[in-house]
Amino acid sequence: MKLLEGKNVIITGASRGIGTGIAKVFADHGANVAFTYSSSEAPALALEKELTAKGVKAKAYKSNAASFSESEVLIANVLTDFGGIDVLINNAGITKDNLLMRMAEEDFDKVIEINLKSVFNMTKAVQRTMLKQRKGSIINMSSVVGVKGNAGQTNYAASKAGMIGFTKSVALELGSRNIRCNAIAPGFIETEMTAKLDEKVVQSWRDGIPLKRGGAPEDIANACLFFASDLSGYITGQVLNVDGGMLT
Ligand code: NAP
Repeated sequence: MKLLEGKNVIITGASRGIGTGIAKVFADHGANVAFTYSSSEAPALALEKELTAKGVKAKAYKSNAASFSESEVLIANVLTDFGGIDVLINNAGITKDNLLMRMAEEDFDKVIEINLKSVFNMTKAVQRTMLKQRKGSIINMSSVVGVKGNAGQTNYAASKAGMIGFTKSVALELGSRNIRCNAIAPGFIETEMTAKLDEKVVQSWRDGIPLKRGGAPEDIANACLFFASDLSGYITGQVLNVDGGMLT
């Protein structure tokens, strides 16, 4: 059964990793997919082609999620190209890890801008459309690190915890208009973001996960599919840990 037939979806940061996984699963479920990237043009164009071959409309847009004005232009372009937006997934994110003692101010600011300010930019740009439609689903990609903290990631943890507060507040503001807003807190998902980590550290993370493996982008995509579809029609303001039991 296709759960998103004919729905228009926008995903930030889908040229790699989790975003690419979401785009593919959504296209398999009949969604038209607009997605962004910041610099990976070749993989983004290849994904656009792959999604289109599945029989849905798909388009890659170069757009910096940290920029308010670029986000406004992006949403206007997507509305022109797709005719509507039913689902927004705020997925773009970066890390710039260091102990607080060594963390440069610009590395704190950059992570907050790209991971958290982007969520404000995109949600604000899309809300008028969803208000007019009187429906919509917004999904924010937080992290287990935003729930429990992590040494060496004060900037990242603050951005991801901020996304949770933002999610719950949007759920309260927009619920009466049938717009839902939920967050996903992935655990350790094997992508380029985590490939930078030392293999010994990675193995010790895997050993500590009750399901004894890192997650795949598809594990996160399936949770997004639930929040995007009508199956979760009575769920808003929630944070779903998709972490193999890590936070249990
Ligand atoms: P990734 O492989 O590093 O991919 C990041 C994506 O974000 C890329 O498509 C990148 O585009 C895009 N991006 C970066 N800066 C951007 C900007 N300013 N504007 C627009 N797009 C931008 O990361 P991932 O592992 O798939 O993670 C995706 C999300 O899940 C992130 O928010 C991350 O914090 C969260 N998460 C990941 C894990 C994990 O274990 N992997 C765990 C918890 C949460 P370019 O390719 O053009 O740079």
